Amino acid sequence: MENCLFCKIAAGEIPSNKLYEDDQILAFHDIDPQAPVHFLVIPKQHVDSAACLEETDSALVGHIFAVIARLCKELGCEDGYRVVTNVGEDGGQSVKHLHFHVLAKRSLAWPPG
Ligand code: 5GP
Ligand code: ZN
Repeated sequence: MENCLFCKIAAGEIPSNKLYEDDQILAFHDIDPQAPVHFLVIPKQHVDSAACLEETDSALVGHIFAVIARLCKELGCEDGYRVVTNVGEDGGQSVKHLHFHVLAKRSLAWPPG
């Protein structure tokens, strides 16, 4: 999608600090980390948010969570981690391309603000 920051990152037009990439998804470190480990996982194909996901996206979402589990293991997040996807204004979504935040290596408060 034109003028979408994460589409540009997925296409390599804007650089990112990549952790993992395949033909469907990309994982990269957040530019403004909120925890010692804070990375984002995005589908390469544009999806506005989790509100747009359909049954036919189940394999993609399953793949994203499997890669998150593998990356967290590799990064030594054995004490736990949090996966968050913000949706819309009230959800605090600032980039309108589906992304899953993965935060780890500090104790995370609940409920979130
Ligand atoms: P949201 O607020 O939409 O849930 O999350 C967007 C995230 O993208 C934020 O955590 C923000 O720090 C991150 N972000 C925004 N611009 C960039 C960028 O150019 N590169 C990277 N790596 N992360 C970005
Ligand atoms: Zn996009």
